Amino acid sequence: MADDATLLCHSCGAELHPGRGDLYVVRIDALADPTPPVITEDDLKRDLRAEIDRLVESLDRLSAQEAMDQVHRRLIIHLCVPCYRRWIEDPVP
Ligand SMILES: [Zn+2]
Repeated sequence: MADDATLLCHSCGAELHPGRGDLYVVRIDALADPTPPVITEDDLKRDLRAEIDRLVESLDRLSAQEAMDQVHRRLIIHLCVPCYRRWIEDPVP
C-alpha cells in the first residue's frame, strides 16, 4: 500500500526506492528567451507610450507568481530506469 511518502515514477507510476539505484531525478529549468530583444524599424514606428500601457495592463492581470512562471519554471521529476531511458532519447515526443 502506497503512503504519501512513497515516491512514484512521474511517467508510469511505478514505485521507486531511493538508495536502490532504481530511479533518476530529472531537473528541468525552462527559461523564456534570455536574448535581448531584436528591435525592428517597425517597432520604432509604433506608439511607444501605447505599447508600454498595453504591457503594464497585461502585467496587472497577472500575479507576481504568474509573471515569474512565464519567465522561468523549475521542475523536478522522478523517473524509473526504463522510463528514463525512453525519455532521455526522446524528451520531446
Ligand atoms: Zn516509469
